[in-house]
Amino acid sequence: MFYHTKELQYNARVSGPDPRFASLLLEQFGGPNGELKAAMQYFTQAFVARKPYPDKYDMLMDIATEEFSHLEIVGATIQMLLNGVNGELKDVAEQSEISRLLKGTEEKEHAIHQAMVSPEFLVQTGGGPAVTNSQGVPWSGSYVNANGDLTVDLRSNIAAEGRAKIVYEYLMQFTNDPYVKETLGFLMTREVAHAQMFEAALDTIQPNFPQGILQADPRYSNQYFNLSNGTKARGPWNQGKSTKLKEEWQYIDDPRSHVTETDGLTRQPVQGSDRSLEEAGKKSQALGSQRSKEIKKAVGSGTNQWSSYPQTDLKSPKSARD
Ligand code: MN
Ligand code: MN
Repeated sequence: MFYHTKELQYNARVSGPDPRFASLLLEQFGGPNGELKAAMQYFTQAFVARKPYPDKYDMLMDIATEEFSHLEIVGATIQMLLNGVNGELKDVAEQSEISRLLKGTEEKEHAIHQAMVSPEFLVQTGGGPAVTNSQGVPWSGSYVNANGDLTVDLRSNIAAEGRAKIVYEYLMQFTNDPYVKETLGFLMTREVAHAQMFEAALDTIQPNFPQGILQADPRYSNQYFNLSNGTKARGPWNQGKSTKLKEEWQYIDDPRSHVTETDGLTRQPVQGSDRSLEEAGKKSQALGSQRSKEIKKAVGSGTNQWSSYPQTDLKSPKSARD
């Protein structure tokens, strides 16, 4: 269950209102690389992991909860940057800093122009955050990547943390407010921490490449197709040994002839790899039954219970208790 702590995780502060930056910061509230996306992604991924990998469930839920805490910090910062907008809309009391900003016609035009970058602040949310990106596009569940396999999901999370980090890095260039910079620096740094947590968790799952269960076909796992004319770029992506499977890259210089000669690659022999097709098939089967057993053993069937009361160890109880 969720429990709300009244204090923010980080002491978010602003020097004064700045509706322009508030609208940019919405990107990390309801945007595709924002905190809600991160929170929902790790939260959603966690369910599949609960029984077979209770340690990963614990980590995913802790990080998801931290992302919700970041969402709260971003929302609070947006609200403070809009401080006075809501009051201004309710009452023309002329007390707020925003109303002073709005005094002269020129200033008012300027403020409206700034807020128009995200007009919902004026006419939709009345000066609060919206679950949209900085352009007002509504948040979408399609931002969430959860594929029911930790070797896939954890890699997706490492990439997601990188995207969140770079958006903070860009955002920091558009504010001069030292308090806001401080908060963004904290949020950015936490994404760097999370990326390493996911990387370490991925390392504890072996083998974790290729993702999933089925092994790569050794006839095609090390082929590089030169699919353009002109100068050829060569590098460790198409020469020497491949990074994970340690096979020799096969550079197909003329893919059109090669495809014709091999009858559409169906007569392609294994080259540059110690793995045979049979071995790959056997490994797929062995890994499939090993992972399936692990999961079935942990999940059980029939009556089921998620939590113990109190939950004193990481695992779910073996069966439902009355
Ligand atoms: Mn975050
Ligand atoms: Mn993160």
